[in-house]
Amino acid sequence: MNDNQALSTLLLPTEPAAVELFNQQGKSNLVLVCDHASNRVPVCLDKLGLSDDQLAEHIGWDPGAATVARLLAKALDAPLLLSGYSRLVIDCNRPIESNELIPEQSAGIVIPGNQNLSAYERADRIQNLFIPYHDAIDALLDARLLSNPKHPTLFLSIHSFTPFLFNQQRPWHIGVSHKSDARFAKDLYRALVQQGDIIVGLNEPYPIEDAFDYSIPTHGEARGLPCAMIEIRQDGLTTETGIERWAARIARAYRAIDLAY
Ligand SMILES: [Zn+2]
Repeated sequence: MNDNQALSTLLLPTEPAAVELFNQQGKSNLVLVCDHASNRVPVCLDKLGLSDDQLAEHIGWDPGAATVARLLAKALDAPLLLSGYSRLVIDCNRPIESNELIPEQSAGIVIPGNQNLSAYERADRIQNLFIPYHDAIDALLDARLLSNPKHPTLFLSIHSFTPFLFNQQRPWHIGVSHKSDARFAKDLYRALVQQGDIIVGLNEPYPIEDAFDYSIPTHGEARGLPCAMIEIRQDGLTTETGIERWAARIARAYRAIDLAY
């Protein structure tokens, strides 16, 4: 715990940490992250003035993504880091200077608890939620580099996306995105396409952009690691069976290409 955390009143001692490390000692050359794993809001922020139903929507988190990521981590024996709090409290996949870091509204819904924040309130969320999450990712990647410098880590983030956005239906069941280093994403994309019965997007529904993304540019690209982002459509993740199927599909796709690295 650093000094800022010690002084913060943002999280009670009984609340979960800003980051969860799952299967930390996993032996895979893959590291998984889930930036929008949780819709939890620190107790002191009083649900940001939203209803439980609103927080359960895609604006609050990526429904299903954390469970897929945990199953995938188990199947591949990969370490996984999950953000502990809602993207509406602070979005761990936005640059600190982004207007969407602490959104005042999302998909047309005003977030009462994010209006007119003081510099202290913003800094408190950054220091106690955003930085510990990214520091934990950095620490894990540093430790792996130190212990096994000849075998680079592959870095994969797991997200889910809403089937409809602004009344627009999205055709892809799953998407794989990359920035400048496209090899890993394109290999995963091809392996998923080869499964035959799904519509796979490449850089759809979202490309990776420095202005809107943080995890892949910072932990993947800047370190020169093969990296990619996966987005799974949320209507495929509404049941346990659906979640298990998607985890199995992604594991199968990864196993089909893993030996190439
Ligand atoms: Zn997401």
